Formats: sequence, C-alpha cells, structure tokens
Amino acid sequence: MFEKLALIGIGLIGSSIARASRLKGLAKTIAISTRRQETLDEARALGLGDIYTMDPIEAVRHADLVILCIPVQSYGAVMEKIGPYLEPGAILSDVGSVKEYVTKAMAPHTPKGVHLIPGHPIAGTEHSGPSAGFPELFINRWCVLTPGKDVDPGAVSKLSAFWSALGSNVELMEPANHDMVLAITSHIPHLVAYNIVGTVADLEQDTQSEVIKFSASGFRDFTRIAASDPVMWRDVFLTNRDAVLEMLGRFLEDLSKLQRMVRVGDGPGMEALFTRTRKIRRSIITAGQETAAADFGRPHGEARTISGPSGTAVLDGAPAPVVDVNVEPQQPVREHGGGDDA
Ligand code: NAP
Repeated sequence: MFEKLALIGIGLIGSSIARASRLKGLAKTIAISTRRQETLDEARALGLGDIYTMDPIEAVRHADLVILCIPVQSYGAVMEKIGPYLEPGAILSDVGSVKEYVTKAMAPHTPKGVHLIPGHPIAGTEHSGPSAGFPELFINRWCVLTPGKDVDPGAVSKLSAFWSALGSNVELMEPANHDMVLAITSHIPHLVAYNIVGTVADLEQDTQSEVIKFSASGFRDFTRIAASDPVMWRDVFLTNRDAVLEMLGRFLEDLSKLQRMVRVGDGPGMEALFTRTRKIRRSIITAGQETAAADFGRPHGEARTISGPSGTAVLDGAPAPVVDVNVEPQQPVREHGGGDDA
C-alpha cells in the first residue's frame, strides 16, 4: 500500500505499527528512527524495519507515510527538523494521545502538498519500548483521525485503509472533541489512579505493606493503570489541560456529593448511584466492549490467538503484554482488559 513508511519513535506504539505493517504487507520499506542508540539497537535486533537511523531526516526522505510515535511535547523539535524534508504528496500522521496540541505543533512545519492527518489509536498497555509492542495491539480498537477541513479526502481514505488493515475501526473527529471525550474516558481515570496509588505510597511503611499484601482487585487495577509511562502521561496532562480541568471539575462535584452521602449515611442515595454505575458496566459488557470473566479475563502468560477483522494472529506465549486500561473501548474487546489507550 505504501512505498516507504517512516516511523519516528519506536516504542510500544511505533513497534506495534511496524510489526503489524510487516505482517500485513502494508509498506515495501519500513524506516525506523529513534533518539537513543540503545533503542535503535533493540529495534534492529527485533527486526522491526528495513532502515534504522538516528537521523529522522534520513527516515522521512522519500517516505509516503510518516508517523510520529513519540511523546507529544517532543513534536515541535522533531517537526522543525523533518518538515523541510517531507516528500510532496506524503501523508504525515501521528499517534499522540491529545489532538489539538499536536495539530498546532505539526501544522506550522508541514509543507504545502503534504497531507497532515493526526491520529490516535486508542489502544495500548502500561509497557514501553520496542520490545513491548505486538502486532495485534490495534485489532478491534478505535483509531481516531482528526484531519483538518481542507485535507485531501483521498489521503484520509488511504490512511483510514491503513489503520483498518491493522485491525482498527476508524473514526473521524474534531481535535477538540477528541480531547474532551478522552479527558473523561482515559485521562481522568489515569489521574485518579495516579492519585490513589500516590496516596498509598505516602502511607507509613507498616500500613503500606499491609495495603500491598491485601490489595484486592480494586486497588490492584489502579496500580496497573498507575504503572503507565510517566513521560507520556505527564505530556497528556500538560497538553490537554483545559479539557482535563473541565472534566475534573465535574468529577470533583460528584465526588463531593458522594462524600456527603457517606457523611450523612444516605444509604438509599448510595444504593441508587451504585445501581446506576453497575448498569453502565453491564452495558459495556453487553456491547462486547469488556469481558465478564474473572480478573477481567486477563491472560496469565498462556499462548493465545486473537482473531481480528483482517486475519488471525498468534501471540508468542510471552507473558501477556497487554493490560487494557482503556476505559472507553467501543468495540468487541478481546482478552485483554482495557488497554491503556492514553
Ligand atoms: P514509548 O514506548 O516510551 O516510546 C517512545 C519513543 O519516543 C521512543 O522511540 C523514544 O526514543 C522516543 N522519544 C522519547 N522522547 C523523545 C524526545 N524527546 N524526542 C524524540 N523522541 C523521543 O512510548 P509509546 O507508549 O509508544 O508512546 C508514543 C506515543 O504514543 C505518545 O505520544 C503517546 O501519547 C501515544 N500513545 C500511547 C499509548 C500507550 O498506551 N502507551 C496509547 C496510544 C497512544 P528513545 O527510546 O530512543 O529515547
């Protein structure tokens, strides 16, 4: 489909794209560029591409698809470097977890004739680096594309077809709308998880050991979410501040109501709320967006097979790479509990 795919950044997401593209034959040549030599060596050892370089300019030369797979706050510096070398007619995209900020960071450096189509695969795990990636990551997950109004529809169709071939369901959205929706479905849940695990981290040593020893599934799930990449999440909160603060305001209002119910002993109020939230959970399961299996059906290291729209892929039996913290999955989610879509 593409002559040359350039991946700028080869961590969890970049390496998953590389693996899936190779498996599906979506690019004749895959060029990989990253910042540190050790990451490049790891990518090379894993055989993720055809060209390996520390120089992003070399990677994007003659590429007809360029995807930034790096933390969003690093876009400006990278775009400044590669912008002048982007090929006319090429599609320029990304996988960043926020879309308004990245559009503003990319657009000024995008030459005329290059099709800028930011994207966000809502799929992930709490792991990082080239070895963390796997080709099934995007199967049955949403990939949101946020093209500007003037972008060539042919280029949008081509990129949509690429993500569909990786197994994703593609949705077009306005960047601001994307950021607001993700703020409540993904960013606030992560903030809450970071906070609750942080509270435990501040407890006295004895209490902390007991919390860890007796951690029931509730706390355990928070720790999984709170193990997500610190740099990536720092960038999410720095670059989606307004939407996060808006949703956090609503969340805190509701938390205050709940606090009052506990303080005044409003049993019926609590029961009514918990019944409502239970229904939401059930509707997610009914919609095939989560599994009712024990421990959210998470695999425990066994080999497994995932069937996707574009084929069947077999994982290698390594400890399950995915933990899906994705709180907003919209489709049949298979075995892993909510990916951490960021
Ligand atoms: P990752 O595994 O940590 O990999 C990050 C990659 O970016 C590495 O190649 C790293 O290079 C490079 N990088 C880091 N800092 C950089 C900088 N300042 N300048 C240039 N390159 C830099 O990260 P990831 O999880 O794949 O996330 C990448 C992007 O995907 C982020 O924008 C994130 O928002 C988005 N995303 C993540 C998830 C998720 O669940 N993880 C889900 C959806 C979208 P070196 O290793 O060589 O330093």
